[in-house]
Amino acid sequence: MIKLPLNVDYTGKVVVVTGAGGLICGAMARAFAQSGAKVAALDLNEDAVKKLASELKAEGFICEGYKANVLERESLEKVREAVLKDLGECDILVNGAGGNNPKATTDNEYHHEAIDGKKSFFDLDDAGVDFVFKLNFQGTLIPTQVFAKDMVGKKKGCILNISSMNAYTPLTKIPAYSAAKAGISNFTQWLATHFAGTGIRCNAIAPGFLVSAQNKSLLFNEDGTPTARSAKILNGTPTRRFVDASELLGATLFLCDDASASAITGVVLPIDCGFSAYSGV
Ligand code: NAD
Repeated sequence: MIKLPLNVDYTGKVVVVTGAGGLICGAMARAFAQSGAKVAALDLNEDAVKKLASELKAEGFICEGYKANVLERESLEKVREAVLKDLGECDILVNGAGGNNPKATTDNEYHHEAIDGKKSFFDLDDAGVDFVFKLNFQGTLIPTQVFAKDMVGKKKGCILNISSMNAYTPLTKIPAYSAAKAGISNFTQWLATHFAGTGIRCNAIAPGFLVSAQNKSLLFNEDGTPTARSAKILNGTPTRRFVDASELLGATLFLCDDASASAITGVVLPIDCGFSAYSGV
């Protein structure tokens, strides 16, 4: 059990969470389940979502785990049918699967500091860049096409996307991930507008810097000491700390609740300890 930051009753709601095998969306799936929802936890990592589902069931909550690739429409359609049979039609979709890839990351922050033998901007791998764009952008668009159909029929529903700090201003080294997440913020507004007449709301959260498996090597050296990049992040954060995954849950539960956020659609909410507000001076 986790301590929920907000008491919102999601009893009877079917919440589909992609990337639920990971740090952020695993916590979100748990928060929805503890709030009464019937949670469909989707991830490429089947073991992770099956484990999450069995833990939640053992605690008396409702959750099923499904192996799913957010980039494969056919497999998602099959998962949708399984969710429909096991839990019912989707009311809320959290598009959480996403991330960066080392193949789309430069070794140097500035080209004038490029070192021979290290990966410069000119060495970025086409397939790596393509992978990052696809995972983050199409990995949000395709599940929305598959699961929002349930919401259109009901004339209500909610979609929550996950953007990032780099959508506001790109971060050095990760051009594809930055551009893809800017695309997510933009797509969130597009979806909010497109679905405005259907009763479906679409918002995003933009988490600040969390320590997770995918960015650990950028933030900490092998011996556990913080990298120079970590120091820069903390110096650029007025509260001088990383965000904890648990601190994303209040906004998640709030934004997806029709009673609390009925007029909120098309927003991207930074949850960043002030990073996006701080000029550094
Ligand atoms: P994570 O790596 O812990 O979780 C991501 C999950 O997505 C993993 O379980 C992975 O198996 C799954 N996944 C990857 N490709 C998939 C695919 N094709 N189909 C289905 N599942 C797939 O990462 P996280 O930190 O929990 O990130 C969750 C989301 O938050 C991502 O969109 C990420 O870009 C975003 N985000 C993270 C941070 C951060 O600091 N960690 C900050 C801002 C935004």
